[in-house]
Amino acid sequence: MSSVAGKKRKLPPTESAQTESKRTSTKGKYSPKEDVKEPDELPLATLGDNTGFICSACHLSISPELESRVEIKSSPPAANKLKTQWILKWNVDWSATLHSLCWDNIHKTAGARGKNKIQSSEKKMILEAVKTAEKFDSLQTLNEEAIKAAGMVLAAKHCICFTGAGISTSAGIGDYRGKDGKWTQEDRQTDTDTADEEGVAYEKLRPTYTHEAIAILVERGLIKHVISQNGDGLHLLSGLSPDNLSELHGNVFLEKCEKCTRVYERDYYTLDDTTSQYYEELEDFGKSDLKPPRYAKKCSTCGLNHRTGRRCQDRKCRGYLKDMIINFGDLLDDDIITRAETEANKNDLCLSLGSTMQVHPACDLVGMGQIPLKLAVCNRQETEFDDLCYKKSGTDILGVRVFGDCDVFMKEIMKQLIPPDELKEWEDKRNERIISYTAKRLQD
Ligand SMILES: [Zn+2]
Ligand SMILES: [Zn+2]
Ligand SMILES: [Zn+2]
Repeated sequence: MSSVAGKKRKLPPTESAQTESKRTSTKGKYSPKEDVKEPDELPLATLGDNTGFICSACHLSISPELESRVEIKSSPPAANKLKTQWILKWNVDWSATLHSLCWDNIHKTAGARGKNKIQSSEKKMILEAVKTAEKFDSLQTLNEEAIKAAGMVLAAKHCICFTGAGISTSAGIGDYRGKDGKWTQEDRQTDTDTADEEGVAYEKLRPTYTHEAIAILVERGLIKHVISQNGDGLHLLSGLSPDNLSELHGNVFLEKCEKCTRVYERDYYTLDDTTSQYYEELEDFGKSDLKPPRYAKKCSTCGLNHRTGRRCQDRKCRGYLKDMIINFGDLLDDDIITRAETEANKNDLCLSLGSTMQVHPACDLVGMGQIPLKLAVCNRQETEFDDLCYKKSGTDILGVRVFGDCDVFMKEIMKQLIPPDELKEWEDKRNERIISYTAKRLQD
């Protein structure tokens, strides 16, 4: 995989603003915290750890089946604070799992003015964790909501799907936000160069249950269009037709001729991160030891380099090829955003999966549907769109709001939408599909 060696560049904007300044230091390899499974071993759906949890606050067990929970992670306390009388029983990595109710009590107490039973160093840690807390509904709630969402999909005339980084977490990708999110980790680093840059190459990622389920639902006409903030190429790899997909922030496997606009799909990551790094270092330090190649060109909007070093294969053209990734500062591609808007305007149901919907203008599309707006949202963090999901028409709640893993949610939806024997046959072919995905990616 020599063409993709070295530091890989930041990812397309997937989430928002608070951590913008840190983003350029996310060199494109994914840095998941947990062990990364080889693609062939990826489970059909990651059903989470159903062995149960112990609440860090009340020390009683949490039943994933029946009780909702919150997972948090904080920065380690300063060495001289280690003897604090802790209210929470933190794990060794300063993470903790709590009953949702216990969490509500704890973080309200921590945020309240005046003295209370929580010592100040722990208060700080708890308040820090509020921003990245991940919520998981009980499996029972998730199933009920999935049944409702499936009914809405069947009733909709123009259902669209909006996807974010959260649908790729089980592909071996870390999420951006959330307790182990890449941006979260970077925020906690004082020196971002010490951030863990080992990770999974894009070529190693395989579509998740959610990607595959979306592709099937599009094939069956139940979902009309997919709008994605992800640049990882997994929607196309899952077999979704480009006609049904708007990749708002680009795709790291594509490159486009500057002159004739012909697009090339590659089996490798197309970006030249080293040249972008050169411009970044010039900007940050006024100098760089890197030597820019002759084709290098600083982008006027993001300040990085989009040229990949390859040329158009049309002999009469031979224009420079550019990656199609939208970085901070870059404008979205006119054609792509126009089509996405047209689809978003038509929607009478928007299924938003794995996104906290904070990056503009992408997230604006979520609220563009027919009135009354119908929204079904599944992710692990709160979003600004949650209130819309709970809106009522008469006594009926219009939307669906689920906290949890998209794969688990989609698996339940599929049970409702696809006859059992067909579903089983399709799920059983997962391994065959993995082989076909692997054939479409450069191997090292
Ligand atoms: Zn508890
Ligand atoms: Zn060309
Ligand atoms: Zn640019």
